[in-house]
Amino acid sequence: MTKKDIINSGKVKSVFATDKEDEVLIEFRDDMTAGDGERKEVMTKKGTYNAIISSKIFNVLEQAGVKTQFIELVKPNEMLAMKLDMIPIEVIIRNIATGSLVRNYPIEDGTKLNPPIVQMDYKDDEFHDPMLNHSIAKALGIATQDELDELEKLAFKVNDALKDFFDKAGIILVDFKIEFGKDKDGNIVLGDEISPDGCRLWDKETLDMLDKELFRKGKDDEVMEAYVEVYNRVIPDDEKAKFDL
Ligand code: 5GP
Repeated sequence: MTKKDIINSGKVKSVFATDKEDEVLIEFRDDMTAGDGERKEVMTKKGTYNAIISSKIFNVLEQAGVKTQFIELVKPNEMLAMKLDMIPIEVIIRNIATGSLVRNYPIEDGTKLNPPIVQMDYKDDEFHDPMLNHSIAKALGIATQDELDELEKLAFKVNDALKDFFDKAGIILVDFKIEFGKDKDGNIVLGDEISPDGCRLWDKETLDMLDKELFRKGKDDEVMEAYVEVYNRVIPDDEKAKFDL
C-alpha cells in the first residue's frame, strides 16, 4: 500500500489517496478542536489513541453486523479504509440527557432516555451544524427517506453494540455522533471515527468524564489522561502489546 496525494484535510484527520482506487488512508492527527474549530490545541499522541480505539470499535461493530469502512490499522495513527462518498449528516444517539439537549430543551441533565433519542445535525461548521429533520434533509438533497430511515436504524444498532461494549469496560455510553458514507455501489457504510472525540463517556462508578467534553470545558490538562484511561479499559493487553505507547 502506497500513501499518495492528500485528498482532504479535516479538523483532526487527513485523508490520502492510495494505489487502490477504492481505498484511502486516514491519518489521525494530534489536533484537538472545539467550537466549530475556533479553539485548537495539539495533544501528544491523541491521534494514535483515537485511531486505535476507533479500529477496535469498528471491529466490534463489524462483528455485530454493521458494515464499516475500516480495513486495517497500517500504523498506530493511520487507518486504511474503504473510500466513501460521505453524507454530510451527523447522526447522534443520546442515552442520557446532557449537552445541547439540556441547553435547548426543558429536560434535566442526567435524565435517562428510554428509548434513546436519535438526532441528525447538518455537518457544516459555517452554519454551526444545525439540527435537521427529514423534510429539511430531503429538501437539501442530502438523503432520501429510505436513506434517512436506514441511517437511524443503523445508529440504533451501533448504540446497542457499543452500550454493551463500554459497559463491560465500566463506562457509560452517554451519547455519541457517527457519520456514514456511500460505497461505490451506493450502499450506506459507517465511516469517520468512533472515539472519545465524538462520544460522551462517563465512568460507571464515579461518573467522571472520559472524553472531549473535558477540553470543551477548558480542562485541557485532564484530556489525555481520560483518553488513555479509555484505551486502557477497552483494548485488551495482547492487542496493546502491538503498540509502543
Ligand atoms: P451535543 O449536541 O450534546 O453537543 O453532542 C452530542 C454528542 O455528539 C456528543 O457525544 C458529542 O461529542 C457529539 N458531537 C456532536 N457534534 C459533534 C461534532 O461536530 N464533532 C464531534 N467530534 N462530536 C460531536
